[in-house]
Amino acid sequence: MNAAVKTYGLYLGGEWLTTADTIPVTHKYTGNVIAHISRAQQKHVTDAVTLAEKTFKASKLTPFDRYSILLKAAVLTEIRREELELSLAREVGKTLKDAKGEIDRVINTLRLSAEEAKRISGEMVPLHATPGSENRLGFAIRVPKGVIGAITPFNYPLLLSTHKVAPAIAAGNTVVLKPATSTPISSFQLVEILEEAGLPKGHINIVTGAGSEVGDWMLADERIAMYTFTGSAEVGKRIKERSGLRPVSLELGNNSPNIVHNDADLEQAAKIISTRSFHNAGQACIAVQRILVQEDVVAEFTEKYLDFVNGLVVGDPENSSTDVGPMINEKEAIRTEQWIEEAVAQGAKILCGGKRAGAVIYPTVLSETTPEMKVNCMEVFAPVVTIIPYKTIDEAFDISNRSSYGLQAGIFTTNLQIAFQAARTLEYGGVIINDVSTYRNDVMPYGGVKNSGLGKEGPRYAIEEMTELRMVVVNL
Ligand code: NAD
Repeated sequence: MNAAVKTYGLYLGGEWLTTADTIPVTHKYTGNVIAHISRAQQKHVTDAVTLAEKTFKASKLTPFDRYSILLKAAVLTEIRREELELSLAREVGKTLKDAKGEIDRVINTLRLSAEEAKRISGEMVPLHATPGSENRLGFAIRVPKGVIGAITPFNYPLLLSTHKVAPAIAAGNTVVLKPATSTPISSFQLVEILEEAGLPKGHINIVTGAGSEVGDWMLADERIAMYTFTGSAEVGKRIKERSGLRPVSLELGNNSPNIVHNDADLEQAAKIISTRSFHNAGQACIAVQRILVQEDVVAEFTEKYLDFVNGLVVGDPENSSTDVGPMINEKEAIRTEQWIEEAVAQGAKILCGGKRAGAVIYPTVLSETTPEMKVNCMEVFAPVVTIIPYKTIDEAFDISNRSSYGLQAGIFTTNLQIAFQAARTLEYGGVIINDVSTYRNDVMPYGGVKNSGLGKEGPRYAIEEMTELRMVVVNL
């Protein structure tokens, strides 16, 4: 083991515990080992939950304390920005441009969660509205649920851990966090930041190791009051099955449709869609996957779009001019290559890209696809986009809704009536008008329908899910 490479222990009750069995973390572009993490055993997961539960019961943090800690964490994140961006570029293979955007959103999420910590309240309940309760005073208060089990994916590791940890802390809960095994470093950095910001020991605990083991042990521990998960639909369904009556929040996948109607500003649509089609190498739950273009303008749109796509710089994520870096590993890139080859064998045409070099897939645009091809009906989660012509707007809505997913959809149109029709008709958690499905501002309620999940994130909405409404009745 190279002594210069840091080994991260488990983080239990504010102490680091390095296990004998470790797992390497690699640089996703060079393949070099950049860190080692500890592989937790079941007893470590049990210990983490015990410490989180004990801390929850004994915690003296007031809402104002929680506000101050989270706000300070936002300031400390800004101070460590460059280091965090570089770290994301290395452990995810994310370009520095994309890493900057992730850090901006981490800071927003910490600030928004801090503000929400002060706003958690309840409501008066007019018990006297029914005869016989004239002398009773009723109100409902919001109380924290307890230990929150958070499980996060590889693609936005710092942001998605923050989306769970910050609202949980704001609401007065404690957390056991299991980050993705391939990109765990940023979650350790988050814990360092929270510790420096004054979060007392035991409020956040981190256990690392394979999801099938560590995640599964977390699901078996009934002292965890709620699970908040971001990841694939397959694992999300398993979590729902295993959690029994305990609540879950599931942020899962998508195969986002983006509609370009014939009245849209095509130049603007092509530019916006192209810049957002391939960020994070297409590994975003709301990445542009299917571009539905009205047939009268499909040729013109495609020409403009390809002009932009062909100008994207592909390569080393640490180079500040790179637009598209590698995928998370070569296996995923090979899987993507196979999906492209399968689509081509079934009649699809490659308009650009279609090449692989190690873990890098060159931005790929396909036409003449069919709804049954994997590149359309499944979540591709790679820098691959299809262009699908349609005749009428109703057909575009129908194609969009014929998906097992429903996270976010985009539509470009200058027709207000069509825009509002889209908002009502598209069966998605979010409909983004004159921008791409990829638009997300952390203040908004975010979450999907169908196989895209259950529940909403965004600090205010996550806090609602992470708290219980408790009714208080006073007999006067
Ligand atoms: P994944 O489902 O493979 O893994 C996510 C997490 O679950 C990891 O920490 C993993 O170790 C853990 N896990 C795996 N098996 C488990 C089990 N049996 N029990 C408990 N935990 C287990 O997902 P991924 O490949 O890391 O991420 C990609 C997926 O995440 C895509 O489907 C993407 O759409 C989705 N995603 C969704 C959102 C959203 O907000 N909706 C955001 C980002 C990513």
